[in-house]
Amino acid sequence: MTSFDRLFIGGAWQPSSGGDIITVRSPHDGRVVGTAPAATTADIDAAVAAAHTSFDEGEWPRLDPSDRAAAVERLAAIYTERMSEMAALITDENGSPITFSQLGQVGAPLMMLLGFPPLVGAFPWEETRTGVAGEFTVRREPVGVVGAITAWNVPQILIVAKLVPALLAGCTVVVKPSPEAPLDGLLLAQFIEEAGFPPGVVSIVPGGAAAGEYLVDHPDVDKVSFTGSTPVGRRIAARCGERLKRVSLELGGKSAAIVLDDADLDLTMKGLRFVSFVNNGQACAAQTRVLASRARYDDVVDALATTTRDMPVGDPHDAATEIGPLVSERQWERVQGYIALGEEEGAKAVVGGGGRPDGLGGGWYARPTVFAGVDNTMRVAREEIFGPVVVVIPYDDVDDAVRIANDSDFGLAGSVWTADVGAGRAIARRVRAGTYGVNQYGPDPMSPFGGFKASGIGREWGEEGLADYVELKSIQG
Ligand code: NAD
Repeated sequence: MTSFDRLFIGGAWQPSSGGDIITVRSPHDGRVVGTAPAATTADIDAAVAAAHTSFDEGEWPRLDPSDRAAAVERLAAIYTERMSEMAALITDENGSPITFSQLGQVGAPLMMLLGFPPLVGAFPWEETRTGVAGEFTVRREPVGVVGAITAWNVPQILIVAKLVPALLAGCTVVVKPSPEAPLDGLLLAQFIEEAGFPPGVVSIVPGGAAAGEYLVDHPDVDKVSFTGSTPVGRRIAARCGERLKRVSLELGGKSAAIVLDDADLDLTMKGLRFVSFVNNGQACAAQTRVLASRARYDDVVDALATTTRDMPVGDPHDAATEIGPLVSERQWERVQGYIALGEEEGAKAVVGGGGRPDGLGGGWYARPTVFAGVDNTMRVAREEIFGPVVVVIPYDDVDDAVRIANDSDFGLAGSVWTADVGAGRAIARRVRAGTYGVNQYGPDPMSPFGGFKASGIGREWGEEGLADYVELKSIQG
């Protein structure tokens, strides 16, 4: 049981001004795994005020970038030592299989903590350019107070991808983790306290939609960095638009894995087993539309059904588990609704279907499901389900496969599976998605990540992630 009785406001632990407690229950068996205070609007006010004062008057934005990098390196060292604790806590909160918690949920943030600081040396904080009327200086200055709002599915990846580049740029940051996963954010706050950042620079204040909305609207927040669903992203974008506030959005996906006719099906299934069902299917970039040629459609469906049946479903703390429970009752109901919808739309569940797997009645477990007989107009092919549900769609030829992959409101990710890497890379160039894999899907944490179309605006990670937290200033004379 991991309980916090205070919030991390302006770098200090403070009681919430309200009495609401977030109780986190294990999605595996419903036991209470921790509690945290729910931030009120007054708590958000206090966090933003601390960030604002620190930005206007404090040392942090004025430090040499290498000194900010040194603080992040101290944080990385603490993170390295306490990774196992963080991974176990995330599995407690959201039911992520422990092997993925170790590899992805905390492995990727650690790579970012290690990968971002070296970027500050080469970053063009101030450069001289020659224009048509002579020389001028271009400066990159921190954007100001950042409000970071994150989802529960990969909570540390999302927080670290915003917090670390924003800090390196010289911003001060108020993070609002989701109410489903407030505990890992507050554990990170302990690491931040130990690493020693100046007062006011970091606040971590978990809360619900109202707290998020209040942070978005706050007049002293200069930039909102949001990761979550596309409907909430649209709402946040509209509010930021009205206020001419900077905003970046990492939203949903419905990514297509194109299986070419020359693909080795055994290798392809080994890959899809992970990239389509990763994190119990609760991954923005999960490859949830599998596109197979008509000639090979039945073979691909059979192979995917066999693979899916083979995945151990159960206690997420068991190292053998590949599919754990969904995060919550709400998410379970959503996934069940889509499984029922697929059947109504005429798709056939060749494995899985509605209800809970045998023997797992005590948690929010869904049956890993593969739908065949799907065409790309069906809602199960167009909408993000966010659970272990994959649809297999037939294509006529390669052009048709690319057309179907692109026929989506989303454009977050994609992959192609083929014996001919050159042909795969040619397809990668034609699909309108922010990240792409040939015979894999697993973007480097220092590569630009984000979405085309309704999958978002802006890019996180790597140099582009750092550039997202600066304003440009041209100085003449
Ligand atoms: P969500 O949009 O419901 O919530 C995300 C966050 O926003 C939470 O902290 C929530 O409390 C807050 N929030 C909710 N309503 C708000 C409002 N009106 N104003 C301000 N904040 C508000 O999403 P979710 O269900 O927590 O997460 C799942 C979604 O996140 C999926 O769509 C998934 O694809 C997406 N996601 C995207 C990425 C990416 O990098 N593109 C990564 C992870 C998850």
